Amino acid sequence: MKKMKKLLAFALALTMAVGMSACGSSSKATEAPAAEGADQNQAASFTTVAEGELHMATNAAFPPYEMVSDDGGFEGIDVEIAEAIAAKLGLELVVDDMDFSSVIVAVQQGKADIAMAGLTVTEERKENVDFTESYATGIQVVIVPEDSDIASIDDLEGKQIGCQEGTTGYIYCSDIPENGGYGEENVTAYTNGANAVQALLTGKVDCVVIDSEPAKQYVAQNEGLKILETEFTVEDYAIGVGKDNPELLDAVNSALKELIDDGSVQKIVDSYINTNE
Ligand code: GLN
Repeated sequence: MKKMKKLLAFALALTMAVGMSACGSSSKATEAPAAEGADQNQAASFTTVAEGELHMATNAAFPPYEMVSDDGGFEGIDVEIAEAIAAKLGLELVVDDMDFSSVIVAVQQGKADIAMAGLTVTEERKENVDFTESYATGIQVVIVPEDSDIASIDDLEGKQIGCQEGTTGYIYCSDIPENGGYGEENVTAYTNGANAVQALLTGKVDCVVIDSEPAKQYVAQNEGLKILETEFTVEDYAIGVGKDNPELLDAVNSALKELIDDGSVQKIVDSYINTNE
């Protein structure tokens, strides 16, 4: 009899849960299937590199998306979004700091679960990882000394350009002129943005092509630099997940969508980026 009651209670709870999710879906009809999928994934199926943990491959020298905090931990937009995703999936976020050029490889080799590094979605990268939906926009901009004779991207021909190794900025700039690039011989790749900016300050390169938000921070931190008004390209940032782990992709994507829809992602972005500047 007792067992029967329990069963009944369970059945009732189940009916209520189904009823509730049906309610939710009626207000947001288009998202209902994804939300249901998320529940199933969160309950079981996906696997991560280490049990109970979500390993994020990143390069923590890309403010305000990821950087080392004063206490030696990690902070930034990507770190906080990843923390919120991990929490939704019942996992603990672990940040694995590495060179930017290693983040996709780390996921491909099963050493990390997600690549999240202000990572631009490109067709080439799509061959190596699956991407979630985009959560932010990045713009490639040009940093020059204040007294530079470079006034727009049309003046970059024949100049020495500094970039970050493995980034879209490097890929575009080092391409052949027929494809809109400036030729490999005119571009120097540095392991991170800070090193590229250092090279600019010491006159080793004439400009640095890098994502706009880190660019703003580098310009604010160093005297005598400015960002050109003309933008190079506009790109989408997303999270890379291993191609052999579609269940994790679904789970991360569903959690991310929830965080975008309820305004959490915007709140995190706003806490790091002052849009009134
Ligand atoms: N958005 C650029 C890219 O994906 C740079 C990212 C970074 O340096 N962390 O290539």
